[in-house]
Amino acid sequence: MSHARIETVVVDGLALANQLRDEIAARVARHTSVGRRPPCLAVVLVGDDPASASYIKGKRRACARVGIHSVERRLTAHAGERAVLDAVAALDRDASIDGILVQLPLPKDVRPNAVAEAISPEKDVDGLHPMNAGRLLLGEPGLRPCTPLGIMEILARERVALKGAHAVVIGRSAIVGKPVSLLLQQAHATVTMCHSRSRDLAALCRMADVIVAAVGVPRLVKGDWVKPGAAVIDVGVTEQDDVLVGDVDTESVLGRARLVTPHRRGVGPMTITMLLRNTLAAYEAHPPA
Ligand code: NAD
Repeated sequence: MSHARIETVVVDGLALANQLRDEIAARVARHTSVGRRPPCLAVVLVGDDPASASYIKGKRRACARVGIHSVERRLTAHAGERAVLDAVAALDRDASIDGILVQLPLPKDVRPNAVAEAISPEKDVDGLHPMNAGRLLLGEPGLRPCTPLGIMEILARERVALKGAHAVVIGRSAIVGKPVSLLLQQAHATVTMCHSRSRDLAALCRMADVIVAAVGVPRLVKGDWVKPGAAVIDVGVTEQDDVLVGDVDTESVLGRARLVTPHRRGVGPMTITMLLRNTLAAYEAHPPA
């Protein structure tokens, strides 16, 4: 069936992120102007994966720009789980640190769940501690994972109506798919969660007012999967022939979707911004004297 061409908004996630970062910087400055120490984020890197090192660098740079202090702990890829847990526990005991982030992925012999549980829920700025995951499930206040928060912020700022809307989330990871499904549901959307075993993904997507693709399969979502006027959020980042590609075939979505986030300057900068916001929230929940 043909449809009138729609002017698709390609969301500038970086511009949105910069706006929010200005607000965060102003709030940090309000604290430091009355003599309080700035908020502090600790980042832990295990191993020497270049992508992880570059993500950490970006996060620390973003902290510095808004006046959040950051410290880094590096462990070798062979350090083992005990050493990682000890390093995290030391940061957790340190009252001058408000938030702790352990960069994923971890080496195979280090269990991500054990690491998440070694961080106090109050310092868990990635929102991966079972207590925070449980609070999200129950709809109670707590720190939420950053990418889902960034997605919700994009939808809110772009005035995408969620009440009663049908949202299709592709991917069921603990860090993106599951938490964003819960947040969408809390915003009164009807949510369909899809994953690698879902049958006829295309047909499910065609029913959606909002599609969130968090898969890691390049250009999985095609234009003809998108209902005219739907909002499409592309979370995926996969390296293919030395270039980064998203989960959405963006070209074919243009003229059909109401909005789409590009795989660069889309969800990524908003994820980092939500990390800054979570760190500030953790600090403000237990402000230094
Ligand atoms: P993950 O590998 O933990 O989960 C992927 C999910 O996709 C799984 O639940 C799986 O069931 C589903 N899946 C796999 N193949 C599928 C298929 N063919 N059809 C339907 N579902 C399928 O990944 P993740 O950590 O959730 O990340 C997903 C993607 O998002 C990755 O590309 C990652 O790099 C990216 N990511 C981006 C940001 C950002 O800030 N931009 C943040 C986190 C993750």
